[in-house]
Amino acid sequence: MKQRTSLLFSISVLLLLPGTIQAQDKRQPVIDMHLHSQTSIWADQRFCFPQPCEGLPSMVNDPDELRPAALAAMEKYNVVLAVVSGERDEVLSWTDGAEDKFMTGIAIWRPDEISYTELKGLLESGRVQVLGELALQYEAIPIDDPSVDPMLALAHELDIPVHVHVAGLGGSPDFPIHLGNPLRIAKVLGKYPGLRIYIENASWPFLEEVTSLMYQYPSVYVDISTILHLTPRTVALRYLKSLIDNGLGKRVMYGSDQMIWPEVIGENIEMIEAADFLTEEQKRDILYNNAARFLRLSNEQIAVHHRN
Ligand SMILES: [Zn+2]
Repeated sequence: MKQRTSLLFSISVLLLLPGTIQAQDKRQPVIDMHLHSQTSIWADQRFCFPQPCEGLPSMVNDPDELRPAALAAMEKYNVVLAVVSGERDEVLSWTDGAEDKFMTGIAIWRPDEISYTELKGLLESGRVQVLGELALQYEAIPIDDPSVDPMLALAHELDIPVHVHVAGLGGSPDFPIHLGNPLRIAKVLGKYPGLRIYIENASWPFLEEVTSLMYQYPSVYVDISTILHLTPRTVALRYLKSLIDNGLGKRVMYGSDQMIWPEVIGENIEMIEAADFLTEEQKRDILYNNAARFLRLSNEQIAVHHRN
């Protein structure tokens, strides 16, 4: 997520036909833990770091094409479920009619932009299933700020997953990098043990800090998302490898951070699939298994995802 104004293999399947055997490639299922609903185009290029660099143009020019293009990418790469977040009306317009493909998150920039009562109603009704992406860092509000506490208490009480942007990557010149240290989350977890929280981009570049946090608090997971397509490829893959080397391969989850460039859904999947330091099991964990565990999908849901 970048800006305030707009949030932001195949296995061979044998088809037994009368008298013939036909092989067909089919990708294994993927869960995208970090996708954004957008209904406007607010940049003509993808972000990239470090500057100077030239971002690629989005495959989509028309805002009306964003959702269909994202759904088409999900279909192509067999993304069976995505946690999609956005501002309330926007995200609800994306997920309506496609509830089997999406878990709905609500993006919040400032705790005072939504009343406690309204948030509680949305979460209790199941209309919103994930608290986040919490983009508070963009507004210079640290995750352990007292103003954030009521919503975290609510998520803890209702056992709702929380997605937080606590990282050193923001995109704008006034982004407060110093508030991205994930050790701030330790204070929250001390108060709300077992809170199901996952951190975007694994708090890049705070590797040692996020490792320490995850060693101490088993309920913390991370996504690996934006850095795969924003930073130099070697930087992103080295970070992912470091997480794996630190023994965290069961708690890293794929995300696209699709904002207004649906092609990153597939690009990120292909980068993970092509990472030669990952075993096939580790790839499946990152692309599906870890998210299924974190989201507590039922055996029935998992079987449905693997049926096709
Ligand atoms: Zn995001």
